[in-house]
Amino acid sequence: MSHALPADFTARVLQDPFLGQPLLDALETVSPTAVRLNPWKTKADLPFKSPISWSRNGFLLSERPKFTLDPLFHAGCYYPQEAGSQLLDAVLQQLDLPEEAVVLDLCAAPGGKSTLIASHLNGKGLLVSNEVIGSRAKVLKENLIKWGAVNTLVTNNDPADFDRLPGVFDCIVVDAPCSGEGMFRKDPAARSEWSENNVDLCAARQKRIVMDVWPSLKTGGFLVYSTCTFNTQENEENTAWFAQQLDAELIRIELPQAKQDRNATGWYALPSELDTEGFYITVLRKTDEAVSRKKSSGKVTLQTFKDLSALDNLANTNDLSFLQWMDFVFAVPTAFTSLIHIIHQQMRVIKLGTELGQPTRKGLIPNEALALSPFVRSEAIPTIELTAEQALAYLHGDTFLLEGKQGLHLVTFNNEPLGWIKHLGNRFNNLYPKEWRIRMRID
Ligand code: SAM
Repeated sequence: MSHALPADFTARVLQDPFLGQPLLDALETVSPTAVRLNPWKTKADLPFKSPISWSRNGFLLSERPKFTLDPLFHAGCYYPQEAGSQLLDAVLQQLDLPEEAVVLDLCAAPGGKSTLIASHLNGKGLLVSNEVIGSRAKVLKENLIKWGAVNTLVTNNDPADFDRLPGVFDCIVVDAPCSGEGMFRKDPAARSEWSENNVDLCAARQKRIVMDVWPSLKTGGFLVYSTCTFNTQENEENTAWFAQQLDAELIRIELPQAKQDRNATGWYALPSELDTEGFYITVLRKTDEAVSRKKSSGKVTLQTFKDLSALDNLANTNDLSFLQWMDFVFAVPTAFTSLIHIIHQQMRVIKLGTELGQPTRKGLIPNEALALSPFVRSEAIPTIELTAEQALAYLHGDTFLLEGKQGLHLVTFNNEPLGWIKHLGNRFNNLYPKEWRIRMRID
């Protein structure tokens, strides 16, 4: 069903020389398709049109493939992400962050910005990806597992809960829930949800979110604020309000391909000027003194896992620490174990580094995260390469005749691991997580 642009929105845009008729025209054209490649995984065979100049791993495609039918999409080899959102890559490169930065992505599901931040960190530092809505946090966790970085946690908390982690983060990304005007082309249903009243509600909620999370930013740390909308209330006016209320410094960023905002305090991707949807981004720096990090008080629930022989040649143990929580073992970056203990005590953590699985007397029952992380899984794990047809059947949850020795194997496509099987001789048990399986017909 096609939705017309809301009349009040059209009137607003026409009265605003910054936007005007060219924006309305652009919103009625076909959306470009863009992806960002995973620098640690196999390069997929996609209909590449041109690189995105502001994003190190970004490409525009000449057409939109059926991503679900590409096994390398499920292997986390790339993430479909509209090109405007990828301006974050150029912004991160301009921030004066420590080598081992601790970054919070506060409104992170489904994970476009988080996978970009993880690539930027390139295995160094720590990324905490948070999403307040439980069902969306699960999708975020899935996408981050597939991306494969060890140095990521996923939390499922309200922004106000971050007052339990004062002064912890070098950088906080607030990709705020917004009125979504920039999605009117890609997602026409967003048009029917728009109203003047909703713009006001969104602007007020954004203020609340930024105020709530601000105490967890270190002094000197950066807050990157972004939306996918075009109006001044949620963008320029909120930016000015944050700077004034928080006595924060507005940071000068250069994005030569983008358009400077109406106050020259941030930048827009406008579909009338670039092959993007709508996106707004700005950066503030904390200048006041942050309170020192809260000491952990609750009981210790995470233990150090010492029996590395139980990992059965399945995991690389160099430069990583192994923690046990209940019956499960997790790999985390050694430099951050004490911070991870604190976060684990204070927040609802649903992804803790890379989960290896459950050690038992018969060996490790492996987790899918181990299969999908090039940083943790061992080269010694036996693999079986699948054809495209077999790979799709595997991702669909099927089992079929397959040559191989008995025991645990990784199955791969184009040498990229997809997940685990337990081979029984001439057939196998499919261990691909039920909730990740392709649901559409694949024949
Ligand atoms: N950063 C994500 C990405 O790049 O894939 C997109 C985030 S989307 C623009 C905004 C997110 O904020 C949604 O996942 C939504 O569930 C979440 N959200 C909604 N209400 C919120 C609130 N009151 N506080 C924090 N996050 C909220």
